Amino acid sequence: MKKVKKLIKIDVDKCNGCRACEAICSAFHAEPKYSSSNPDKSRIRVVHDPLRDIFVPVYAGEYTDSECNGKNIYTVDGKTYDECDFCRASCPSRKLFRDPDSGLPLKCDMCEDEPPLKEPKCVEWCLNDALIYETVEEEVEEEEPTRPLEMEVGLEALVKQHGIKAVMETLSRLKS
Ligand code: SF4
Ligand code: SF4
Repeated sequence: MKKVKKLIKIDVDKCNGCRACEAICSAFHAEPKYSSSNPDKSRIRVVHDPLRDIFVPVYAGEYTDSECNGKNIYTVDGKTYDECDFCRASCPSRKLFRDPDSGLPLKCDMCEDEPPLKEPKCVEWCLNDALIYETVEEEVEEEEPTRPLEMEVGLEALVKQHGIKAVMETLSRLKS
């Protein structure tokens, strides 16, 4: 079975750190849509190295409930970077890619919408063309169950933060 995979390529040299991508991502995912904008809720964050004036946009990836056991150190153009600087995971060792209100992990969903968008919002709003949207067709065995998995991950994170009792009580309140 063929599946269309969405990609966003990043041209770091073109990023000037305007952070329009962070603003529009958080606004697009606000409830209701566009009702607020908060970079802490964005699924893309721009890492800045002030010494070299480099900006690196990083997309939120998978949630992990444990920290890495080890750490790699990268040297790029003579400057040393901690592995965590460019990591896409929502993990317990930091607040990045975690909703500041609910504690839920954030993950880039490529701006899934109905009807589908022509391109993701961060790409549309990046006037410097640092973000380039592409689609590729690839062979897959079966459809990935993305939605239920995301829900499970979200619930698991809430249970870890607030306890199963509080989560169950909130769910019952919502149901009634
Ligand atoms: S909108 Fe584009 S140029 Fe601005 S910070 Fe984001 S990636 Fe960089
Ligand atoms: S593709 Fe959409 S969800 Fe992903 S970072 Fe860009 S604006 Fe946010």
